[in-house]
Amino acid sequence: MEKVIIVGSGCAGLTAAIYAARANLSPLVLEGSHPGGQLATTTLVENFPGFPEGIDGPQLVMNMHMQAERFGARFSYSEVTDFEPKDDHLRLLIDDEWKETRSVIIASGASARWLSLENEEKLIGHGLTSCATCDGAFYRNVPVCVVGGGDSAAEEALFLTRFASKVYLIHRRDKLRASKIMADRVLACESIEPIWNTVLTQYIPDEKGEMNAVKLRDVNTHEERLLPVACVFVAIGHDPNTKAFHGKLETDPDGYLIRKHLAESKHPGVFIAGDVADRVYKQAITAAGSGCAAAIEAEKYLSGFPHSVD
Ligand code: NAP
Repeated sequence: MEKVIIVGSGCAGLTAAIYAARANLSPLVLEGSHPGGQLATTTLVENFPGFPEGIDGPQLVMNMHMQAERFGARFSYSEVTDFEPKDDHLRLLIDDEWKETRSVIIASGASARWLSLENEEKLIGHGLTSCATCDGAFYRNVPVCVVGGGDSAAEEALFLTRFASKVYLIHRRDKLRASKIMADRVLACESIEPIWNTVLTQYIPDEKGEMNAVKLRDVNTHEERLLPVACVFVAIGHDPNTKAFHGKLETDPDGYLIRKHLAESKHPGVFIAGDVADRVYKQAITAAGSGCAAAIEAEKYLSGFPHSVD
């Protein structure tokens, strides 16, 4: 019987791991298929307190990982696919094997949303991606486009100017949702060309199955046109990763887990942290804060079990 299993290794999960490990709970952290969460695929993080010059996202999560490990957190690349609450413990299906634990901290984060267009799955990795940090360098001196108008789209577009000959920013409205500082940077950047009030309606691959162009539609005039691009970077937000908990834990209509109080769910022993339950702030620092709260609540909960905390 584990004391606490932490599902997810982004900012929320790793902060929970640091606190749980320092409380001597020897947490088991399930890193899942995207270790480090969203920060692992971002670039410079300028708003995490304590880093006046900013810090690279992958470095920040690596630091947190080492910090948790130093206090005794254990890590596994496994993934949870099912969950069963029992009277005084919980069962998690981890890589096809049921594992028992007194408590769980769900910090499974959120995954990139796609446009749901024809050929989308086939084109991922062939000129279609949601991660500029991962794939941007493959597209040197060619035109690319970013879809979206939030901070992620702004960040991706700015990052891509290092490589691409031209970055088109395709947004369905005529105003960016991104924070003012990011929006100002995008609008001041000569190699980014915003295409306003426009949606991408079709991916057009070449005969080898690589992205070659996209079809765009002006939402006001309904005019359509082709735009040659070598890669499309989709940055239209994220959906919470709650598949393993469907029907077992309460979610809102968009699938975000619902917390009863700061970090608790309605099930004893189940705590929730980070973007999997946050449709409002979605910041690294708020995820870290909620990871801390979840670990403190889990520790309090576990202290009710004799011999559960050494
Ligand atoms: P977001 O803020 O939800 O923005 C998503 C963008 O995609 C919006 O502009 C939205 O358009 C557009 N969109 C959504 N669905 C679409 C669709 N089906 N077709 C076309 N466009 C679509 O998501 P995000 O940019 O990933 O940011 C998420 C959170 O992380 C935010 O709180 C953000 O501040 C934070 N973040 C911060 C930083 C930073 O501080 N450096 C970096 C990245 C993310 P509308 O505007 O019309 O809704």
